[in-house]
Amino acid sequence: MIQKEEISILVLYTGGTIGMMQDPKTGALVPFDFDNIYKHLPVLQNFGYQIDFYSFDPLIDSSNMSPDFWAKLASKITENYEQYDGFVVLHGSDTMAYTASALSFMLENLNKPVVLTGSQLPMGVVRTDGRENFLAAIEIAAAKEDDTAIVPEVCIFFQDQLLRGNRTTKFNAENFNAFASTNYPGLAEVGVHIKYNKERILKPNFKKLKLHTNMDRNVGILKLFPGISEEFVCHALRTPGLKAMVLETFGSGNATTAAWFLDALKEAIDRGLIILNITQCKGGSVEMGRYETSLDMARIGVVSGYDLTTEAAVAKLMYLMGEGLSRQKVLELLPVPIRGEMTVPD
Ligand code: ASP
Repeated sequence: MIQKEEISILVLYTGGTIGMMQDPKTGALVPFDFDNIYKHLPVLQNFGYQIDFYSFDPLIDSSNMSPDFWAKLASKITENYEQYDGFVVLHGSDTMAYTASALSFMLENLNKPVVLTGSQLPMGVVRTDGRENFLAAIEIAAAKEDDTAIVPEVCIFFQDQLLRGNRTTKFNAENFNAFASTNYPGLAEVGVHIKYNKERILKPNFKKLKLHTNMDRNVGILKLFPGISEEFVCHALRTPGLKAMVLETFGSGNATTAAWFLDALKEAIDRGLIILNITQCKGGSVEMGRYETSLDMARIGVVSGYDLTTEAAVAKLMYLMGEGLSRQKVLELLPVPIRGEMTVPD
């Protein structure tokens, strides 16, 4: 049985609303000084864990998040991996789902929790949601059973839901309940008790953590709409340097059957571009060939992204291409779940 004091958590603060408080002199929102955290949140002591803090410099609004920052974050976790039982990443909510998706690919063989959280109201505001989010994230990062982390994966905790990071999307800019994972059930519900859905959580493989920091940025997103012009599609597909395009299609992976559209896709694929089909719908999966409107895309070599979120699709492409794999290998791995990011029907 592990003593509570033996559990150690590293909190990594990247920026975002959660770490803000009102400057008593000016009234403006300024980043919170985590050196004084126990003064502001004395309840943290009641956990009885060793909690250490690391703040990135500069702190950023998550709208400025980048693959370079992901590399720094993933490297910091890796450097400290052996010393801590779990990690909490305080992050702006705007691009949290992208960061969670990216970290899930960058941290191969993760056997410890990496819990991202943030808030809609700053920590220093009376009605903040940051306090509850932060405290629950710490508790989840520390949770163990038989000396093994209960949630050894990258996840997002927001309001009362623990969600798999690479299945999550920010869907509300106003509500405290800001994230959804429509295609994969929550990993835990947090109320009076934290109820873990253990059969939904990835199992640890006890292998050595392997860090990947090369993310290839030559990825684009093309969201279809009725009336989209040939010029726009052709320009987008001919973006210099572009290696992969995430195609956000209608419903179960459908698109116009107009000859110009299929010709443009085919010409791009023949040039070596990877085209990954995901749905614009918030839930459900691409099923290429179900309708005539996706049959031709399958025929010319568009790859099914099944139920990938946009965030996970972008991160997976950046990761696979960043590994320097051949185009053929990337095409083979795209429709295969490698971090629990997608469900492929039998
Ligand atoms: N714009 C902020 C950010 O994402 C919003 C937030 O923190 O939730 O950094």
